[in-house]
This record gives sequence, C-alpha cells and structure tokens, in this order.
Amino acid sequence: MIQKTQRTTTSRMPSRTQYDQELVYSILDEALFCTVSYSVDNQPFSIPTAFVRKENKLYIHGSVGSHFLRGIESGLPVCISVMLTDSLVVAKSAFHHSVNYRSVILFSNAVRHDAFEEKALFFQELTEKMVPNSWEYLRQMKASEVNKTMLLSFEISEASARMRTGMPNDDEEDKTLPIWSGIIPIPSKKLTPIADENSIGIELPKHLR
Ligand SMILES: Cc1cc2nc3c(=O)[nH]c(=O)nc-3n(C[C@H](O)[C@H](O)[C@H](O)COP(=O)(O)OP(=O)(O)OC[C@H]3O[C@@H](n4cnc5c(N)ncnc54)[C@H](O)[C@@H]3O)c2cc1C
Repeated sequence: MIQKTQRTTTSRMPSRTQYDQELVYSILDEALFCTVSYSVDNQPFSIPTAFVRKENKLYIHGSVGSHFLRGIESGLPVCISVMLTDSLVVAKSAFHHSVNYRSVILFSNAVRHDAFEEKALFFQELTEKMVPNSWEYLRQMKASEVNKTMLLSFEISEASARMRTGMPNDDEEDKTLPIWSGIIPIPSKKLTPIADENSIGIELPKHLR
C-alpha cells in the first residue's frame, strides 16, 4: 500500500504526481535500472544499479564486498529513483522546453536477505527481467557465485510516481509564431544482439531473436 507523506508531496505541479500503487509498479517493472541515494557522515552518495520489483519490495544485489551495499545494509535511510524518458518536448521558446517522462521516487530502508535460495531466485528473476526467457539457456549458477552476492530489499510504501505527457505548453501569444514545436520521441528498445568473439558460429537462440 502506497502512502503519501510530507516528503513525497511535490510543491510544483502536484497534479503530475500520483500515489497509485499500480502506476508505481508499472514504472518500476518497465525500468531496468534505479539510482540509490544515501548519506554517510553528511556525504551524499548516488549509485545506479539494476533491480527487480517483486510484490511490494524492490530488490538490488552486488558483491558482499561492495562499499555501497555494505554502507546501506544496516538499514540506513535511502532514497531510490527510477525514470523512463518518453520524449523531448520542443516548444517555441527555450523556457517551455520539457521532457515527457514517468518516474518513481521512494524512501525506504534496506533489509538484508542471506538465505541461499532467496539469493539464487533473485538471480533468476533479474536475468529474466534483463533478457526474458534466457534462464534455462544459461549455464547453471555456482554456489560460490550465490555466496559472494549480497541481496537487499526495500519496502515500496513511501513512494510517488510522477509523469508528464503531451505537447508543449507554449504561452498563448507564442502559439502563432512560425517556430516548429512538438515532441521528439525517445525510443527505448533493445536492438539486434551483437555476438562476442566467443560466440562466432553459434546460432542466436530463439529468445534473443
Ligand atoms: C527526465 C526528467 C527530467 C526533468 N527535468 C526537470 C527540469 O529540468 N526542471 C525541473 O524543475 N524539473 C524537472 N523534472 C521534474 C522533477 O523531477 C521534479 O518532479 C519537479 O522539479 C518538481 O519538483 P518539486 O520541487 O515540486 O518537488 P519536491 O518538492 O522537491 O519533491 C518532493 C517529493 O515529491 C516527489 N517527487 C518529486 N519529483 C518526483 C519525480 N520526478 N518522480 C516521482 N516523485 C517525485 C518525491 O517524493 C519528492 O521527495 C524532470 C523529471 C524527469 C524524470
């Protein structure tokens, strides 16, 4: 359940911000990466990383030796942001240029998961999110690989989704100016895979076509 709080309340154009669980989840499920921000001794850090959303939790992973993960595993407050950029908004004036986007910001605290099965399952879910239908095709994970991985989750409850859609909002008196305005879509799609030197002669598997 998403709860609106003082710190998830936007001051500018509040109608663009929503606290709808399904919207938050849909943005998180479409995005591949998030940025985790936290502060240690008044020094802010902001670290991009891959993630998976499962039910009301966002999971991240990394090496057990990671400075970043060790910094937040004890439950330090974090702020996590995710954004999808849909188009550039090109107005008739520089002032009204903008971006069509969908984004999520959430506040939470890490919970560490040490169970071997949980960590192994996370690898499967992350791999399937990045490259759907690839898990069965890959060599199986080694226990040592799971053991040297730290898994953290964050509850998704204090969160907000924000989006901008549509055309530029030019000033009324500018609308008749002979200056082009509109949007430039920013496609976000995976292109044709490129084989590395160890895959010459290996047929591209069906799930990658
Ligand atoms: C790709 C991209 C480009 C942007 N470019 C600009 C820009 O150039 N200039 C600009 O002013 N704004 C830009 N924004 C919007 C910006 O992220 C803020 O939403 C906006 O500035 C509103 O700020 P505020 O002062 O009202 O929010 P604040 O009062 O600072 O925010 C309070 C709370 O509202 C929620 N919130 C704020 N913004 C977001 C968000 N984007 N997504 C989800 N929750 C949010 C958070 O919980 C936050 O803690 C951009 C957003 C994206 C995704």
